[in-house]
Amino acid sequence: MYDAALVRRAYLVAVLLALCCIDAAGARSPAPDTILINGKLVVYDGAPAQALAVRDGKITAIGRTAKILALVGPGTRVIELGGRTVIPGLIDSHIHAIRAGLSYNTEVHWFGVRTLDEALGRLRAAAEKAPRGSWLVVAGGWTERQFREDRPPTQAEIAAAAPDHHVYIQLLYSKVLLGPGSAEALGVAGHPGLSARLNVERDVDGKPIGWLSGDNRAISDLFNLLPRPTFAQKLAGTRAFFRALNAMGITGVNDPGGYNIEIDDYQPVMQIGREHGLTLRVRYSLSAPRRDHELADFKELTQNLPMGSGDDWLRFNGIGENVTWGLYNNDNPTDAQKEQLYQVLRWAVSRGMTATFHWHNDRPVHHLLDVLERVNAETPIAKLRWSIAHLNDASPATLKRLKAMGVGWLVQNAFYFRGEAFLGQRGADAARVAPPLVSALRMKLPVGGGTDAHRVMAPNPFVSLQWMLDGKTVSGVAMRAPQELPTRIEALRLYTQGSAWFTFEEKLRGALKVGQFADIAVLSRDYLSVPVEQIGGIVSLLTMVGGQIVYADGPYAALEEKPR
Ligand SMILES: [Zn+2]
Repeated sequence: MYDAALVRRAYLVAVLLALCCIDAAGARSPAPDTILINGKLVVYDGAPAQALAVRDGKITAIGRTAKILALVGPGTRVIELGGRTVIPGLIDSHIHAIRAGLSYNTEVHWFGVRTLDEALGRLRAAAEKAPRGSWLVVAGGWTERQFREDRPPTQAEIAAAAPDHHVYIQLLYSKVLLGPGSAEALGVAGHPGLSARLNVERDVDGKPIGWLSGDNRAISDLFNLLPRPTFAQKLAGTRAFFRALNAMGITGVNDPGGYNIEIDDYQPVMQIGREHGLTLRVRYSLSAPRRDHELADFKELTQNLPMGSGDDWLRFNGIGENVTWGLYNNDNPTDAQKEQLYQVLRWAVSRGMTATFHWHNDRPVHHLLDVLERVNAETPIAKLRWSIAHLNDASPATLKRLKAMGVGWLVQNAFYFRGEAFLGQRGADAARVAPPLVSALRMKLPVGGGTDAHRVMAPNPFVSLQWMLDGKTVSGVAMRAPQELPTRIEALRLYTQGSAWFTFEEKLRGALKVGQFADIAVLSRDYLSVPVEQIGGIVSLLTMVGGQIVYADGPYAALEEKPR
């Protein structure tokens, strides 16, 4: 019903208005490049608004439609919103977007697939296209809990779906299912260090069933044995993944390095940035490449890469999430390992670097906090905006220690997939406050929203927002108590302004406000009023970054612009 004719009619009205007002407008600031009218704008701290104006990539006016229409000039593009909801562009504050882009076009994705049957169908479809003998990889972002069948595939099923291919299917960072003969093709046995760290799962008769299990490190080492995409595939994959994020209203990502990404792997995103082809804002930190060489490596890597270098599209944002290997997924770090982290952090402070830390759970987090407090006692770190990611079961005491140092917290929807496992291990009382989202907000702790896609989670921000609001796992089990369920606006703020804080940009993006970047998403449904269980199904119909329409669909499809 909001078709091209309506857009044209609105444009005509706007042009007429502009012509009639041109004399009066003589002394006015230049006309907007684009205006969006007749919508429902989610404005955090201001009067309700239905329209906004964009010029030179920023929001220049916001308010009632009549007021914005009055600004129109002859060259202004007018977009009729038809009552749709407009939000500030979403920012995932912890997503392995650069890594995901490298292999996005050469992988099979099971994000959001609700039956095993359909998942296997995707494998079958990929097998029909890929050359015989090549690899089909599902790199994560799914759980058997999302399938109606409530179980993962078997080796026989994947072999039937792709009889002429090698298959690698990763489940979180805990297990990998390989097709018949695929372990041999990977040469797992040729890596004695690795095979010793992998457990071969067997059936009752002791026969291997295709699944290998291991810790994060072993699984990521196994992944590293897979053939790498070519540079051209990495470039195309990065563009495609970023566009897929745009389609979900994402306009920015904070990328924390992590496993399975080498320094070379930053070349594709850098090249796209140089060619002005990015469709979202990328802020990235660097993880330590080599164990026990952390300080030397960081010094070398950042010699010509000071904190904050880059531009509005692609910018370096410090170190982490793996700052030192000794305090990465390690429950019992030694004093020497803590000293090693301390030395790296002292250097980071001297270079004005921000830092982000992966930490898995609350019980051993005191090891990390002790080191941070030691550094903070010498030089206050608050202005560097450090962060801890994950920590789904953060205790009030931990949140207090973070708050005291001015360290923020990056929360993802890990329990959307793993909630039942946590419930089973820790019980309902622990689950009621995990993660303690509202407690953190009441303390005014800086908090960012996100997913941790795409190994652990799928990248859909609306699924993460829905989980923030109802605390339910993918199979519908309720965990968090009502007092830890934020309001819709609070959750949205975390995913926008909250995330922007961690890159020092909360005054530049994350809100529909004059002076901020025109990073916005026009939604398929009203985030503020649809039933909560339908929020995960919302998509963007029009996503704008810096005033440029990077993604458009449905009634707006014709408006999509090529990257600059
Ligand atoms: Zn992490």
